[in-house]
Amino acid sequence: MGNAYCCQPMSLFSPVFSKEYYRLSLKVLETALNQVPAYEPWRAFDPGDDCHVDFRYASMPVLTKEDIRNHSPQGFVPMDRNIQEGSMNKEIEFVETSGTVNERVTNIWNQKWWDASERASWKLNSYTSKIMNGSHLEAILANPLNVGYKSDDKPLPMEKRKLARFLYLNEKTNPLSWSRKHMDRMAKELEKFKPEVLEANPSLLAKLCRYIIESGKIVFQPGLIVLTYELPTSFHYRQISQVFNVPIGSSYGSTETGYVFMQCEHGKFHQNTEFCRVDFQPLKPEHGGPFLGRILVTTFNNLWYYIVRFDIGDLVRLDESGSYPCGRESGLTLSAVEGRTNDVTLTCNGRLVTMRELDNALNVLEDIDEYQLRQETQETYHLHIVTRRKDKRTLNREAAEILGKLYGEKAEITVSYEKAVAPEPSGKYRVSGALFPIKIDAFIDERRCLQKKM
Ligand SMILES: [Zn+2]
Repeated sequence: MGNAYCCQPMSLFSPVFSKEYYRLSLKVLETALNQVPAYEPWRAFDPGDDCHVDFRYASMPVLTKEDIRNHSPQGFVPMDRNIQEGSMNKEIEFVETSGTVNERVTNIWNQKWWDASERASWKLNSYTSKIMNGSHLEAILANPLNVGYKSDDKPLPMEKRKLARFLYLNEKTNPLSWSRKHMDRMAKELEKFKPEVLEANPSLLAKLCRYIIESGKIVFQPGLIVLTYELPTSFHYRQISQVFNVPIGSSYGSTETGYVFMQCEHGKFHQNTEFCRVDFQPLKPEHGGPFLGRILVTTFNNLWYYIVRFDIGDLVRLDESGSYPCGRESGLTLSAVEGRTNDVTLTCNGRLVTMRELDNALNVLEDIDEYQLRQETQETYHLHIVTRRKDKRTLNREAAEILGKLYGEKAEITVSYEKAVAPEPSGKYRVSGALFPIKIDAFIDERRCLQKKM
């Protein structure tokens, strides 16, 4: 059973999945098709139960955010469950995700399942498995639009930002409004609270770190830093490592899917196979495939909310080395999460460039705090830079050279300097993106996505 599946570049790459993984995959698919209203139209795509489960998955449509908006929450609950009862019994709650009106979705929040998914992900990194045990103290530096307590008009005292073993270090939705006093308070609270783990949005933690570096302060060192909510740029990562001399790992997932990948102590991302199925769809070779592709996530064990083949909106790179120094061989292993599909740009010739590829090119620049690249038309690119570097002329030349190499000779590049890069309405920092629509479906290598293997 384990050697027949679709959607992965078979000849180059063969991940290992357990029997239990296939059992859960099958159970979720059959329940979704037979008992969950949103998937009723998917039955027409099912090649039948004599086909391999991977082929059945590969035959199904993709679940989009829009589908979730259209059917949520009731459409994702099996017909034999009553969400009013579940909510009264406190098994579930309703939560709205952040973002603009068009981006917002009401999800069913199942705390017990979420905690179990998180715990399973801790096993995938030796530091998280040692330090995180469910009773550890954790400080969280996030945008309150994503998690925590919001207060933009007046500061909230520390006691009002604590919840059980968690301390939320920031209550302001706009990081551009952070004062020195606000950042001093964060540093003092770290010292006082002494968290074992600091969980952080990398752009916000990097901002705090730039302040700490500039002011020459010494800051409390937690046992571990877990980055989440966004991908760190190499500049953010550098700024954070300059201040914190502790292991740093990235945790990857979403409100809809729980914890999907965890970065191990060797820097690779391992799939949380106990709690989700991941289907990989490679991009066409001219756009970076077959190792670069998008992922569709199916959740396991959440009896209240069936998410199947959800396009989580990111591109990832499969690890091609085939070596697992940490010994974790089960499930997909990624060498990198490459960035949001919404954040891709195109070269003048139309080749897709991920945020990670752009970042890898720009990371040789020195003394950059932050940046954002906007592609305005097919051949015009505008790079916004935040830097304390005085010699702008050299920096202009260096940046234009790098971008010219990446995007092509015809690329018209403008560089401008900003005081800061503001976050998106979702509260997250956006590194790159085009001002015109780019449909990711056109870049997927369909031929590799549905290969019938019996
Ligand atoms: Zn590993």
